[in-house]
Amino acid sequence: MEISFDNTEHAFAYKSNEELKEAKFLFSSMGIGWLVKIGTRLTPLAIKAHLPVKGLLRKTIFKQFVGGETLEQTQPVAKKLGDYHVDVILDYGVEGKEGEANFDHATDEFINVINYAATQKNIPFISLKLTGFARFGLLEKLNENITTEEALNGQINTAKLTFVEKEEWRKVVERMEKISQAALTNKVGVLIDAEESWIQQPVDALTMQMMKKYNTEEAVLYNTIQLYRHDRLSFLKESVRIAKGSFVPGVKIVRGAYMEKERKRATAQGYKSPIQPNKESTDRDYNEAVSFCIEHLQDLRLIIASHNEYSNLYATQLLAVNKDDRKHPHVHFSQLYGMSDNITFNLAKAGLSVSKYLPFGPINDVIPYLMRRAQENSSVSGQTGRELNLIQKELKRRKH
Ligand SMILES: Cc1cc2nc3c(=O)[nH]c(=O)nc-3n(C[C@H](O)[C@H](O)[C@H](O)COP(=O)(O)OP(=O)(O)OC[C@H]3O[C@@H](n4cnc5c(N)ncnc54)[C@H](O)[C@@H]3O)c2cc1C
Repeated sequence: MEISFDNTEHAFAYKSNEELKEAKFLFSSMGIGWLVKIGTRLTPLAIKAHLPVKGLLRKTIFKQFVGGETLEQTQPVAKKLGDYHVDVILDYGVEGKEGEANFDHATDEFINVINYAATQKNIPFISLKLTGFARFGLLEKLNENITTEEALNGQINTAKLTFVEKEEWRKVVERMEKISQAALTNKVGVLIDAEESWIQQPVDALTMQMMKKYNTEEAVLYNTIQLYRHDRLSFLKESVRIAKGSFVPGVKIVRGAYMEKERKRATAQGYKSPIQPNKESTDRDYNEAVSFCIEHLQDLRLIIASHNEYSNLYATQLLAVNKDDRKHPHVHFSQLYGMSDNITFNLAKAGLSVSKYLPFGPINDVIPYLMRRAQENSSVSGQTGRELNLIQKELKRRKH
């Protein structure tokens, strides 16, 4: 069966006419560059100032991209996706909350989500950010003292930390151990998100360390590789080489969500940007990562996390050619909830393993995530045009 992402009937079967019209309105609004620019600046301030904007957010951007404010509220969404053979990656979307009490609370919440996922047929993974339970400043300090080689080998040099910081880090490792143990016991995969490059070395190092310990039989933990960085293709290849024969590396490949922030910081501080010179280079490395991983499927578990039609199609073609099996058990596809339903639902229809990445959490906590989605879907990236065309096409089809 040929896979095509043009079928909007499959793509939006789970949405009512009313929901589609709401999505059309939202994507049209996000196509207005100045509105997104002002909105993404003012919304976090308005929330902080307790202005009454939550109601509006809840009915618009929150509804489109988030599963609910609590785990319970995600249930009907996950069930509906399951009805169309779409899996769910649950993401407790806490961001920017610091302090030991918040970190302990987030850890309990991640374990709670793992326990819940284990009871559901279509929730094979959860995802988390290390900054959900580790102080950003601590990670920044560690980052300066870990080389890429050490990160690849799971080595974390804490020599430069103060006594108090060492204790802080000990607790971070303990939290990660607790989460990994719960994941292993419950057979739920945990995807560790990649974040800003200036904290990524300790994230990689800790993930490699935990994979060594918990991925001995199967991939329990997954690291994220951002191919918008020019050094990540070699990092990916090296990590697979290091793992070979001793553990099963979980690999989630993405392009990357912090490009503007990365470039701005590099310019302001006068160092070479870690980001690729242009989109073509990012695409080239991403597609090479797809083909490298598919060639090494006996050694790894792969999650292709992208809204790029070519990359997704390319993967299915490689699987059909190289492996004679598009439904390879070591490959999973994923798109963010609220985006690229044409890819997700058409892959599901063709019988491939695919999911929606479904964040949930109180509005205040998911604001950074929502602002990234608004920026990603603003007219500059061209994503909005594509989403809008598909929605309009489907609305037209339903009229006839
Ligand atoms: C399930 C899932 C999980 C994810 N997890 C993470 C994560 O942990 N960490 C993370 O950072 N991202 C993550 N992302 C990716 C991110 O959030 C964006 O969705 C993704 O980068 C958009 O790219 P795309 O592959 O969908 O393709 P496209 O829409 O084709 O590509 C857009 C991307 O290309 C890159 N790009 C655009 N212009 C340029 C340029 N001029 N030069 C160089 N590069 C350019 C940027 O990364 C941009 O986001 C995840 C995505 C998914 C679907």
